[in-house]
Amino acid sequence: MFCGSAWAPFALLGHCKNEHPEIKQGPDSQMKLEQVIKEYQIVSEVPVPTFHGPPVEGLKEHNDGLICLADGCSYACRKSKVMAEHWTSCHPNILIPKDKRARSGVVQCFFPVIGTKYFAVNPSVADIDPQGLYATFINDYLPSVPPLPMLPPNTHRELPPLLAHTGWNLHLDSFVTDDTKRKALLTSALRPLDVKKDPLYGQLHDWVFEYMDNIRNIAQFQVPYTILRYILEYPS
Ligand SMILES: [Zn+2]
Ligand SMILES: [Zn+2]
Repeated sequence: MFCGSAWAPFALLGHCKNEHPEIKQGPDSQMKLEQVIKEYQIVSEVPVPTFHGPPVEGLKEHNDGLICLADGCSYACRKSKVMAEHWTSCHPNILIPKDKRARSGVVQCFFPVIGTKYFAVNPSVADIDPQGLYATFINDYLPSVPPLPMLPPNTHRELPPLLAHTGWNLHLDSFVTDDTKRKALLTSALRPLDVKKDPLYGQLHDWVFEYMDNIRNIAQFQVPYTILRYILEYPS
């Protein structure tokens, strides 16, 4: 907890003695450590966490990480020289310019001395439900999106990158040439008539305002706190 790193049980007390002399160790510290190891079934080897998953609590987050961009590869490190060596040994046949081989990101590692193995994490999923929609989007969908930068269109006839990615132009293709279909689509998106003419959806207007009022009340008490938390978490 002092330096944000993990140590194998046999190395922990030595590390604390050398690096954190301010921590006082009693004569029974070895025994206490053994109790903890037994109680929590602590092992010296840990599997590398999910690629780009939430950060492991307690481990230092390094913002100067480099993450390999080769298909299906989850290699990460912190030095461009090490990344170059990784490409030479693991992806010798992929011809990609040097600056497209890795992207920068946040990485962590368990054991900082022997066999340092960095793994990419995503601090923005730290406090969210791992089964939730946002985590699914970040972990499962986002990696399938072509890597940036997408080039902006050169002419007005070229598709903008976002449209090209969403494929809405293909989805709406038949509407462009079919007047009736287009009108039906527009009608479906119109604001409902007022409550006298449409007793069900006519209430929508009031619902929306009620919702906005509630949101405003929540915002007065909770949003400043949320923003403050973000400022503290992401000071840069
Ligand atoms: Zn330490
Ligand atoms: Zn790689």
